Amino acid sequence: MQYRNFGKTGEKVSVLGFGCMRLPTRSDDTIDERLTETMLKYAIDHGVNYIDTAYPYHKGESENVVGRVLEGEYRKKVHLVTKSPVFRIKSSDEFDSILDEQLRKLRTDHIDMYLLHNLNGRLWKKVKQLHLLDHLVAAKKAGKVRHIGFSMHDNFDVYKEIVDGFPDCEFSMIQLNYYDEELQAGIQGLKYGAEKGLGMAIMEPLRGGFLANPPKEITQIFQEAASKKSCVEWAFDYLWNKPEVSLLLSGMGSMQMVGENIESAQRSAVGMLSPVDTSTIQRVQKRFGQYDIIPCTGCNYCIPCPMNVAIPKIFEIYNQLKMGIADVEKARKMYRSIYIGFGTVASECFDCFRCERHCPQKIRIAGELKKVREILEVQQ
Ligand code: SF4
Ligand code: SF4
Repeated sequence: MQYRNFGKTGEKVSVLGFGCMRLPTRSDDTIDERLTETMLKYAIDHGVNYIDTAYPYHKGESENVVGRVLEGEYRKKVHLVTKSPVFRIKSSDEFDSILDEQLRKLRTDHIDMYLLHNLNGRLWKKVKQLHLLDHLVAAKKAGKVRHIGFSMHDNFDVYKEIVDGFPDCEFSMIQLNYYDEELQAGIQGLKYGAEKGLGMAIMEPLRGGFLANPPKEITQIFQEAASKKSCVEWAFDYLWNKPEVSLLLSGMGSMQMVGENIESAQRSAVGMLSPVDTSTIQRVQKRFGQYDIIPCTGCNYCIPCPMNVAIPKIFEIYNQLKMGIADVEKARKMYRSIYIGFGTVASECFDCFRCERHCPQKIRIAGELKKVREILEVQQ
């Protein structure tokens, strides 16, 4: 395994972190704990030392499972990472009580890395109003958490505001991949955070799995490249190539993924991409830029909508059509199945614009839904 410095924390972290938001599940949607244990222990035995969970993952069960699996010797081998669910906290007392609950669930007396989860401009105001930074620092002084930071899904200006307004911050987690260089904090945020001495953890290296199975034109460019790598490896190497990146998180859901990702991580290095490799990625970025898609990341911040419109799912189907992953017939079939489990379709939107206030990508959601409706919502 390769290790990198994790900014002001002074810790060494494995370049591959184990994200526990997409653990293997059974048919009833509960976590397959036995398989999770095998995967986590295999990863730790092969050098992964950053285990990342969060309060809401798997409807609150991820922390319980991670706590049970790591209890004992394995706990001592890792940096255990979890996050304060700022979005649901209503008072500073609740911040403290949730942290105590997390310690109980994780069966530990301290959390190694504790983040304020998924900040954006609105939640950063809440952090200040409720004086949550004081509580975070107090938790560190009390030894309940060892290092403190934040994760976020907002633009660079908000990222900078948080970094500048959080002097005790030691690390941050941002979304970055070769497809989303300019999105949210982006490359600018990566460089700014690193300059400020923060450890930089990267989430969504595969954009929720999308870059593992990109459109066929993209796969073809990679296949024709001089370096023979899988689409996943191209996406990971793009990040590991950068000196500012401390680690990337992969939400691993199978033993195969764990094995392949560890092999990739073992040969990772800063500056690993040749000029030819870089130009391959640039070709791919250019090709992606030619698709007329809606820049939705599936972050879900826009829902629930009062009419239960399944906004991210609708945009995902539309984008699959635009990128040739699905043809019109398949896209319409997927669109009709939205009613089974996802919500309602675009024609239910009544232009209240509530969703648009929450979209970090500033998508004009109501207008885009009309566009989607014309193509996908056909009378039977
Ligand atoms: S604008 Fe449409 S999609 Fe957005 S919240 Fe209102 S009804 Fe829902
Ligand atoms: S429309 Fe915006 S808020 Fe909603 S899922 Fe997509 S990116 Fe997120």
